[in-house]
Amino acid sequence: MAENADNFFENNLFRFENSPCDCAVDTRNIAPGQAPETTIKVQSIPGDKIQFAFAPTEGLVRLGDKGALIEKNLLGKLIEIKTGDTTALFNYFERNGFLFRISDTEYEPIETQQMFELIRRLRTTVELLSALGAIKKDYQKILGLSLYLILSNPIEISFSTMNTPYKTCKHDFLKKLEAAYEYPTPEYYQEQLYTEECVMVPDTLLHETYKFDMQLYMSILEGSGDEHWIPGSSRDLFRQTAILYAHAIHESKVTRQIADFLFHYFCDVGVVANVNEDGSIVYYKEPNLKKITPEMKKRIIGIAKYVIGEEINSNMADVHPVYDAKKMTPSWSVDTLLGGLYFSIFYMKPDLELFRRCRQCGTFFPVKATSTRKVYCSDECRNRYQQTMHRKRKREKEENN
Ligand SMILES: [Zn+2]
Repeated sequence: MAENADNFFENNLFRFENSPCDCAVDTRNIAPGQAPETTIKVQSIPGDKIQFAFAPTEGLVRLGDKGALIEKNLLGKLIEIKTGDTTALFNYFERNGFLFRISDTEYEPIETQQMFELIRRLRTTVELLSALGAIKKDYQKILGLSLYLILSNPIEISFSTMNTPYKTCKHDFLKKLEAAYEYPTPEYYQEQLYTEECVMVPDTLLHETYKFDMQLYMSILEGSGDEHWIPGSSRDLFRQTAILYAHAIHESKVTRQIADFLFHYFCDVGVVANVNEDGSIVYYKEPNLKKITPEMKKRIIGIAKYVIGEEINSNMADVHPVYDAKKMTPSWSVDTLLGGLYFSIFYMKPDLELFRRCRQCGTFFPVKATSTRKVYCSDECRNRYQQTMHRKRKREKEENN
């Protein structure tokens, strides 16, 4: 059994340790009748370290004395913390230590909003991997989660003990979008605009040259877009995408693939206004989902895989290969808990194992990809759900009689 300490030592893929940490809240009363100002601060506690290990079947776990397994599924436990639930967040830090290395001589303030944003990114990455592994693919969800990771503003976190601040992944495509207006107009456009009333754009989604209507093209350049036919087309995201599509024709294959897809998706299906925390997409108008072609579905999967790759790679800075001279084996050194959490995603195999949200309590629990029936995290949750449903049905029956 994996619970056996000796066995666990042998089967784990990496181990690391973290300092325990203390979370404290300073409340400052500024003026009578005014809400007090609160500062949340953390400090690591010197002394015994907390031990972690990762094994394929158990996920990231916390070990106790002599290597006994204390708590499983530490990744699932972190990502199920709801945005704003500081109590659950502190509780997690008190059990596992802080996400980054912090000072052990003084308290340092943290911005909890940034912590929740960090957790949202982790959760989105895990949910995206799981959505990719699901047998029946939810393309809207896969696209929504991918777009959130690509488009959300990167955050920067810094502590006195860090040489360089931690930055969440800024995806290459976001950099390209931000630079969209700087790409020069391809030279051949000038002539085409007058002779053809359109510009010819080489296109990787249609596998043929696309005739970009001159009027639409000009209105996007001017900034008005065509709100009547394409609601949201005067907004920055659409304009940047369309101009990148039209002007950055010599960009890398990946940039072209994402730009080509998004341009056609926005024009035919709908322009994306926002992505909710659960990955659902908010459109400027009811999307025309019938317009999603098999080619688009394939591209959505391709983009998702690429985004996950960038997201995980950018978080591998805290993980280094080391040589264990005593055992004469290769090994890994992990600097921070956050690095360890991303490293455990790195080892996730979506075709074998994925995370599912419990239908009853919302907990993320690991489940085999082939198991489509396991929708509750525990027997307790299954019973509770069935009881609730039973009562509901009974009530409905009584009301109808
Ligand atoms: Zn549950």
